[in-house]
Amino acid sequence: MICPRCKTENGSRTVCSNCGYFLYRATSQNVAKRTGLERAIDDTKIVGKGVWKIARVIWIVIVMIVLSFWVIAAIMFLTGGKVILG
Ligand SMILES: [Zn+2]
Repeated sequence: MICPRCKTENGSRTVCSNCGYFLYRATSQNVAKRTGLERAIDDTKIVGKGVWKIARVIWIVIVMIVLSFWVIAAIMFLTGGKVILG
């Protein structure tokens, strides 16, 4: 691969031997060689805001479930279970 900064031929190197430029970021061919983890990290960065929205919704749902459990538990305690069990 030819370094885009200093035009030095570096073969299959990922870093330029002349100037230290990171070559693997330059081509889509090498992007395909990246590990699933690296792609997952990048995807997380891209969709990070969406993930946070989903995580917040999940958190609200969990809080609602826990709160409703305690509300039901409180109603059962106060009524002796008559509301739930008849
Ligand atoms: Zn270079």
